[in-house]
Amino acid sequence: MKAKELEQFLKNKMRMSHIYQPLLIRALLNSGGKATLRQLALEFLEQDESQILYYEKKIKKMPVQKLRKHGVIKIDGYLIALNLEKIPYEDRAALRALCEEKISEYLKSRGLSVWDYRMLDDSGVTGSLRHRVLERANGRCELCGAAVTDTPIDVDHIIPRSKGGATDFENRQALCYRCNRGKGNRSQINYREVRRKD
Ligand SMILES: [Zn+2]
Repeated sequence: MKAKELEQFLKNKMRMSHIYQPLLIRALLNSGGKATLRQLALEFLEQDESQILYYEKKIKKMPVQKLRKHGVIKIDGYLIALNLEKIPYEDRAALRALCEEKISEYLKSRGLSVWDYRMLDDSGVTGSLRHRVLERANGRCELCGAAVTDTPIDVDHIIPRSKGGATDFENRQALCYRCNRGKGNRSQINYREVRRKD
């Protein structure tokens, strides 16, 4: 393909149902034409405003308040700052290592699910199962009603697989990215039932 042809593709041929295609092409252009899947995923993540807002809220709510109470951090205008007068180089390295150690200790005991329940929970969704669940849900998130045309919708386990939930049709519900993330891995609410009773 020549650059002109790519230009033609972008201008005339590309049919978009989301921003993914131009995002991918741009990411590849930015990285000299090639990238690993991991690099591309990071690039996508950076564009996902909902993810960024999610973490902004989360940071403000939990670690900031707690660490402030302990005098570890302070708020300095728009900035969040460590409550240290200065950070000598040797101390910084040791403190960073200690943070790393605490993180990996926790991940070892709790598993990757602290970050991404979907990695553990999304296996075994065949195309047809996904299609049937979305069809039953009229193509909408069964909690907030967002349409599959507007937002990524996950085919979620009502009872998580880690808690022995089946992978079949009955144990599935369609949840948008946001609602699914809000629900996490602990809850076992069947939103299909909740909505039916409304
Ligand atoms: Zn939703």
